[in-house]
Amino acid sequence: MEKLTIKDIPLEGKRILLRVDFNVPIKDGKILDDTRIQASLPTIQYLLDKGASIVIMSHMGRPKGSIAPSLSLAPCAKRLSELLGNDSKHPVQMASDSRGKEVKRQVDNLQPGEILLLENLRFHKAEEKPEKDPSFAKDLATYGDVYVNDAFGTAHRKHTSTYSVAQLFPNAAVAGLLIEKELSFLGKRLTTPERPFFAIIGGSKISTKIGVLENLLSKVDGLFIGGGMVYTFLKAQGIPVGHSIYEQDYLESAQNILKLSKEKNVPIYLPVDIEIAENFDNQSKKKIVSINEGIEDPWQGMSIGPKTLIEWKEKLKNAKTVFWNGPVGVFEFSNFAIQTNELASFLATLPATTIVGGGDSLAAINNLKIGPKFAHLSTGGGASLEFIEYGHLPGIDVLDDKK
Ligand code: AMP
Repeated sequence: MEKLTIKDIPLEGKRILLRVDFNVPIKDGKILDDTRIQASLPTIQYLLDKGASIVIMSHMGRPKGSIAPSLSLAPCAKRLSELLGNDSKHPVQMASDSRGKEVKRQVDNLQPGEILLLENLRFHKAEEKPEKDPSFAKDLATYGDVYVNDAFGTAHRKHTSTYSVAQLFPNAAVAGLLIEKELSFLGKRLTTPERPFFAIIGGSKISTKIGVLENLLSKVDGLFIGGGMVYTFLKAQGIPVGHSIYEQDYLESAQNILKLSKEKNVPIYLPVDIEIAENFDNQSKKKIVSINEGIEDPWQGMSIGPKTLIEWKEKLKNAKTVFWNGPVGVFEFSNFAIQTNELASFLATLPATTIVGGGDSLAAINNLKIGPKFAHLSTGGGASLEFIEYGHLPGIDVLDDKK
């Protein structure tokens, strides 16, 4: 079911309670990467242009219900003011909390064109555990006439600000433009993709991605598997993996996925060669081994190998749609990032609709400064995977349907 968006409702003079994802990396009060703030600009700008005032809410990090000054959203208020420049009437105001009399007073004084950013919602336990204190949702609901969710990155969570509060806005809970865009790419483009459609899934563990792998096998024309989860697949086939990370409890799951690929006649491409290291260290001795040789102790697999990349490129070059999530090696170590970076650079050259989800894949793309070459870079790693796995997310289900 399609959801109502801010484009479908009257906004003039309304006060908007807007959930965004300003969970940006911060060090010593300095924002290291403002991609998420930038991603919220189209919605904020649209609401301002229509003559609304905005109360913005977000979380940052995991303060687990207590006040952590290093996780204050104040730097985001400053950055948002800079990004809006002359487009907002006044600098973005920063609230000292997300509930309480003083915050309510600030909200009540807000004029059209003005913005108030509430302090980190997760300073209150009730944000992540709505059942502990339903009055938190009720308080937040008094801050707006309309609820807008534009925080795709947390739409898979049933938290106070992403779920409970939306329920308190009957016929006035809608999606922002970022969520609309995410749904258009991860929904329409991946459910009725132009074919061939390939997915590349990397990352450390199979346990967190099993459901997605299974689901993708019903959608794609080929599934490429890289990263740490490779070793569970290899071990499941009796190939020695040395000290590589693998999940003993998931050998059967890996076997089932390989079986499913045969039943569905959808090929799974595992690496044909692996870059291995003697220690888990960037400076470690390294070498390339073929899968047939396997990996001896004390060596461990760190990345797909160069021959694999050549083979994958050959298969991927005719793709019409590609979904990529997760690095194919330990990309944080420059000496083992070569294949992940090369894969990212190659995907950037493809004429296919290429959609990328997941913080690590995005970090690789941003380091290479090739972001604009991709059709869509999803702002939600976990949310994009859950959306692919289940086809819906609680924070989106709760919004109003288009009639
Ligand atoms: P995930 O959060 O599951 O997407 O995993 C991302 C992490 O997987 C990154 O930090 C990578 O360093 C890690 N990773 C990728 N390949 C390997 C590997 N061969 N061995 C260990 N970790 C890996």
